[in-house]
Amino acid sequence: MLAFAAAAAIVWGAWPSPPPVSVPAVDAAVDSAAGGAVDAGVEAGALSLAVVERPLTEAEQRVELAFNPAWIGAPCRHDLDCPFAEGFCMLPEEGFPRGQCSRPCRKFCPDRAGDSFTTTFCMEDPSYIGRGTCAPLCDLRLSPTGCRPGYVCSTVQRLRENMTKLVCLPDLGTPPPPTECTRQLDRLAVRYTRPDLADALATGAGPDDLPPLRDLCQIDTPVLLASPLRGVEYRFERRPRPEPVLVACEMALALVQFSELLVQLGIAEVEHAGTYNCRGVAGTRSLSGHGNALAIDVVALRRAGGGRVSVEDHWSGGTAEQQRLLRQVVERSRDERIFTLILTPDSNQAHADHLHLEVK
Ligand SMILES: [Zn+2]
Repeated sequence: MLAFAAAAAIVWGAWPSPPPVSVPAVDAAVDSAAGGAVDAGVEAGALSLAVVERPLTEAEQRVELAFNPAWIGAPCRHDLDCPFAEGFCMLPEEGFPRGQCSRPCRKFCPDRAGDSFTTTFCMEDPSYIGRGTCAPLCDLRLSPTGCRPGYVCSTVQRLRENMTKLVCLPDLGTPPPPTECTRQLDRLAVRYTRPDLADALATGAGPDDLPPLRDLCQIDTPVLLASPLRGVEYRFERRPRPEPVLVACEMALALVQFSELLVQLGIAEVEHAGTYNCRGVAGTRSLSGHGNALAIDVVALRRAGGGRVSVEDHWSGGTAEQQRLLRQVVERSRDERIFTLILTPDSNQAHADHLHLEVK
């Protein structure tokens, strides 16, 4: 795969400023019902080839060895260090600190089961239409930053598609300074990382009925929240397992409170339909709270005992107990002023199958 690796070097090295693309949107997880990762346009900005290698601390060394071992995203010096079908090494001299195992992909990348492995993602290679390289998604279970040392959670946008994913890319910047809000998260001992979203948010045109949203869809202090949060797992509705949730820091604080409430009500998992999504409110000309990552759409709740209570099936149609649970969640969220806007099936038809929870 040397030829391919060389091509990848060009992609990673000096990718010119990205062409205008569709509206960026991050669902915590999106992909397909098939469960595989999907193709993505690389919208990351120019990545310098020069990587400053520094010795790892002991803690970093442990992350390095436990992160997708001998799999996509693992450290490598040459192709033989990537012992899987079509595996090859993206080298330090190509911009990848201590190397990163990959393999070519057309649309999907394979996933490995087990707690040592992140989901993988097929990023489209702009120099080979329809071809790409596999990379690991950020995973806060495996590393405090979601990535191996030297890599950072970065948005990678699908070409011509209204979606981005958070993938581990070489870290070339300086970390953003703490804000009052992130200090509060620190005091609350919340696990999170601060992803690099600059490139995805800098691009994008709006839907037809709205002006270009690139100036509107900003996220104030984006944070990627680890799941579980206060004992509650957050799982995107079409994904098999919980994943980090991308929200603005203010929303993260609200979700801490929300999770504490859910635990009291015996709920162990939130099934949601996304947080950040750069779009307008249906039928209006105003930006949705999702455009600023200040909202989450809750589709269903799973009790600690295992029973699933869904908004669509049980808001009106369930047993008295199921209905009561959903209403308790809404009413207590209102009473405790966790969110500033709550929309339910009682609000309108657009919310027949989910609760929209938002902070302003
Ligand atoms: Zn919503």
